[in-house]
Amino acid sequence: MRHLPIAAILSVMLGSCANQSPLIDPKACSANILAVQIMGSGGPIADDHRGGTGNIVWVDGKARVVVDAGPGSFIRHGEAGVDFRDHIAILLTHYHGDHVGGLPGLLNNGSFAGRRNNLLVAGPKGSDLFPSTSELLAAFVGEQGALRYLSSYLKEGGPHPKLIIRDIEYDRDYMQVVHRKDDVDIDAIPVHHLSIPALAYVVRTKGKRLLFAGDQSFLSDTFEQATRNGQPDIMFMHNAISMAEGQPRGLHRDGVSIGEAAQSAGAKKLVLTHHMQRALNDKDAVLAAIRENFEGPLEFADDLSCYELIK
Ligand SMILES: [Zn+2]
Repeated sequence: MRHLPIAAILSVMLGSCANQSPLIDPKACSANILAVQIMGSGGPIADDHRGGTGNIVWVDGKARVVVDAGPGSFIRHGEAGVDFRDHIAILLTHYHGDHVGGLPGLLNNGSFAGRRNNLLVAGPKGSDLFPSTSELLAAFVGEQGALRYLSSYLKEGGPHPKLIIRDIEYDRDYMQVVHRKDDVDIDAIPVHHLSIPALAYVVRTKGKRLLFAGDQSFLSDTFEQATRNGQPDIMFMHNAISMAEGQPRGLHRDGVSIGEAAQSAGAKKLVLTHHMQRALNDKDAVLAAIRENFEGPLEFADDLSCYELIK
């Protein structure tokens, strides 16, 4: 085998993640007092190296909050050094496969972790077409579920931590309290994602505010009202559609609308994730459209990108 010089190897590594500063050690993110790390920066289509959507909020070296668990989460959690015992909550935005397809793998992995304390799992209530969070977990790990060998997740006193499930209303026009403990505050905000029950989340800790906008369209009025001038330290939004005609604007915001939402919230930094090729291929137009309304710092996330808030 031919040996490449270090500089050549580095240039290959850098080239593969040109939208971010290279993260040499994906486990280094956990060393921060507060950081967010991307466990999946992709969307529903497997068209590059990215996993489906997922994020971790690191607090004092612990992976405290999981936001979405897309396919690929299992691998990224391992690469980043995430310990299932450290979670205080798993927050799910909605029940498309690119956001929950990795959840069975995370729960299976967690069954080896020796965790005993309860674990909050929050997500939307159901509709005719989509399950509630309780129904989703029952379908995965209930007594009649597909992975019924893990059914002690839904019982007291078993070998696995009991999942404390919270079905959150998605048809309210206000922000709802999800969690007020462990020095971490979590709230949910209904968003418009066509007819799919869907939520955004605000996580506040150590004086910082993180806003995970989730999949949402420009019709997310409640979101804009609830987040107006909230000045999140980082706002994560989804780069799913191009600026061309005929894109599914009832499902996702285009660049103009992303910029409007970030500007309205007063975001101190905007991070784009949930990338899809149709949007990445139109990157210049998407960026120009965002810049019509939002002038602040903006980054494109990759898998394992680390956003440090307090070093
Ligand atoms: Zn999605």
